[in-house]
Amino acid sequence: MRIIEGINELKAILKEYRRTGKTIGLVPTMGYLHNGHLSLVGASRQQNDITVMSIFVNPTQFGPNEDYEKYPRDMEADSQKAEAAGVDVLFAPSVAEMYPRGYNTYVETFGITEVLCGKSRPGHFKGVCTVVLKLFNIVGPDRAYFGQKDAQQSVVIRKMASELNVPVEIIVCPIVREKDGLAMSSRNVYLSADERKAALVLSGSLNKAAAAVRDGERETEKLKDGIKEMIGGEKLADIDYVEILDGDTLEYKERLSGKMLFALAVKFGHTRLIDNIVVEVV
Ligand code: AMP
Repeated sequence: MRIIEGINELKAILKEYRRTGKTIGLVPTMGYLHNGHLSLVGASRQQNDITVMSIFVNPTQFGPNEDYEKYPRDMEADSQKAEAAGVDVLFAPSVAEMYPRGYNTYVETFGITEVLCGKSRPGHFKGVCTVVLKLFNIVGPDRAYFGQKDAQQSVVIRKMASELNVPVEIIVCPIVREKDGLAMSSRNVYLSADERKAALVLSGSLNKAAAAVRDGERETEKLKDGIKEMIGGEKLADIDYVEILDGDTLEYKERLSGKMLFALAVKFGHTRLIDNIVVEVV
């Protein structure tokens, strides 16, 4: 595995791969790798000749009072995990490499970024779209891999790629969970033992809502109330949002129909976790 920090160097290497007809898969991450990230590598390796993983804690997607400085980082362990998973090229640029002094250009989005995490974290998707578009332009991947864990991000990136005519196929991979149901996240390391236990209420409440849908419930507000009630019963949990939206358009519907995204963000102490489930309603 090659570890590259410079944009020009990476471009030169990838140009050579492309010249020899190799297809390229891109897995963008912020590092502190876990099996969720590595599942994206597995998917990329199945579909492409070369897998490029980026590790970049992107400052422009964090709000002023968020955890940018504190975000967990471990380049040593990450490069070992990436190599063992079969990453061919690890791109780990500095902030100055990605945003040189005087940097002035951002991607702006509307509508789909005004709900869910976009509502709670103003400017977050501006930063996400900007860095992902830069990565698309730097790497020029045939396919790029994202996790359903960040459901809104997948919808936003897919739309950005389509609307800005980026010639890349967006692949969204399923959420990888711990055995007890907690969605894997780099931020799980922040949790105390009690908070870790309490956080099971996230997958628990989503699964319960999905069961209610299977039993015939179709009213969005009733289902949301059920989730909020269950999470509210957990002392350490502080709800940011619980939403049920159309899975493709992120629009609100009073009654469930088609592909529905059940999404939530909940704080445990200082740690904000997200989780979601997609339910197909016929
Ligand atoms: P992050 O490093 O948190 O920005 O995540 C990088 C990519 O990995 C994003 O596309 C995430 O959606 C994806 N990812 C993070 N956690 C998981 C998980 N538990 N299962 C599947 N994909 C994940």
